[in-house]
Amino acid sequence: MAAVKQKAMKRKEFIQKGMITAAGATLLLSGCNTESQKQGQEAPAVITNKKYRWKMVTTWPPNFPVLGEGCNMFADWVNNMSGGQMEIKVYGSGELIPGLECFDAVSSGAAEIGNGASYYWTGKAPAAPFFTTVPFGMNAQQMNAWVYSGGGLQLWRELYANFGLIPFPGGNTGVQMAGWFNREINTIGDFKGLKMRIPGLGAKVLAKAGGTAILSSGNEIFTNLERGVIDATEWIGPYHDYIMGFHKIARYYYAPGWHETGSMLEFFFNMKAFNELPAHLQAILETAAARLNIWVLSEFEAKNNEYLVKMMKEDKVDVRIFDREILKALKKYTEEVLNELAASDPFSGKVYDSYLAFSENIHNWASFSEKLYYEMNL
Ligand code: CA
Repeated sequence: MAAVKQKAMKRKEFIQKGMITAAGATLLLSGCNTESQKQGQEAPAVITNKKYRWKMVTTWPPNFPVLGEGCNMFADWVNNMSGGQMEIKVYGSGELIPGLECFDAVSSGAAEIGNGASYYWTGKAPAAPFFTTVPFGMNAQQMNAWVYSGGGLQLWRELYANFGLIPFPGGNTGVQMAGWFNREINTIGDFKGLKMRIPGLGAKVLAKAGGTAILSSGNEIFTNLERGVIDATEWIGPYHDYIMGFHKIARYYYAPGWHETGSMLEFFFNMKAFNELPAHLQAILETAAARLNIWVLSEFEAKNNEYLVKMMKEDKVDVRIFDREILKALKKYTEEVLNELAASDPFSGKVYDSYLAFSENIHNWASFSEKLYYEMNL
């Protein structure tokens, strides 16, 4: 008798979960579950009706195209999938706290979710850039492979556990552009004395090439470039760069984004808050994050060329591709920067080993797959 009851409960839990996680579950419930209908008054122990009202802080300006919009969509998906059990209020940068305080805010539990890019937290965790991008690193598809299937996520979780956080992949920009330049770059020597807005490890590589990285917040970049405070800036790719209006003031638009070859974006959850959630809400958050990971990259890939062509037509933007010798030199400097990072911080060394082994492995496969695919089609 006990066994029968247990079986009935299990089935009821399954169906209750189905009600929350699957679209069209009402059909399932009304169509075939007379057993649970009979016992409908009893709430199973595993599902609680407790409502969760969480705060998500982000590093993006409110409703920022793709990245901020995606956070709003994530909140809607979670609300819908949880049948309203979890509501997430999304705060853009500056609405609740400045964007660069998200990591600390979620670490302390002041907010339960953060959304940004791990390389913003390099000052706290030197290994962090590996989980966004490193110069001459892996592309979006390869980053997903390393993070989901190659041990990257375990390392990322190990790093963030020190801060009471659990990270999840939450998007990718794809290969970015090298940026907007007001002087021609024909040799590696042309980087000497170049003042450029470029974040992360790319800034260290630029320094090795004799340039100077100038920090500017998003809203200062345009004015700084227009007034000659900087000679160049990178941003993201054609869609976002068009919105920023850089094509109105810069002479040359260079490719490829050697410094950001597939920047992965992130969610980070307050570990205590996440671990206290019922399993189905944890699964909903993880599923919604994975959905956003796909959606963000799809948006970038779908829109970038449209806007590149638009800029070239409307404003006769001069699009250039860096000479192979320039890229070789930048790559050599990148190896020095990464080796210095690995030598200065043991955990960065551990992550770099994993990253390097995985990228060598996947590049070998790419030489038989993606590379031939592009040669065949371009
Ligand atoms: Ca960028």
